[in-house]
Amino acid sequence: MALIWNRSITWDSEDWRERAACQDLDPDLFFPIGSTGPAADQIRNAKAICDTCEAKVPCLEFALASNQESGVWGGVTEDERRRLRRVRLAQRRHAS
Ligand code: SF4
Repeated sequence: MALIWNRSITWDSEDWRERAACQDLDPDLFFPIGSTGPAADQIRNAKAICDTCEAKVPCLEFALASNQESGVWGGVTEDERRRLRRVRLAQRRHAS
């Protein structure tokens, strides 16, 4: 997934929430317990919804910037966000 960290997006604005494809869905869908078995299906379903969402990028940026530790945000699970954070930190270290 090639997402660009863009601090110029107002990630703390509420605007993106109004465009969220999940706003009328059960929030539990986006917070699976674990990552195997039924949770894997839940994650797949959540990601499929995120893939249709206009707010996908600012949602992920919000989750990264506010250190959301659980759930699928912007189509990205907590484990994937941890990896993404590590990659971005390494990129920033190399850039400075
Ligand atoms: S990207 Fe996914 S979790 Fe984020 S607002 Fe859209 S549907 Fe909801």
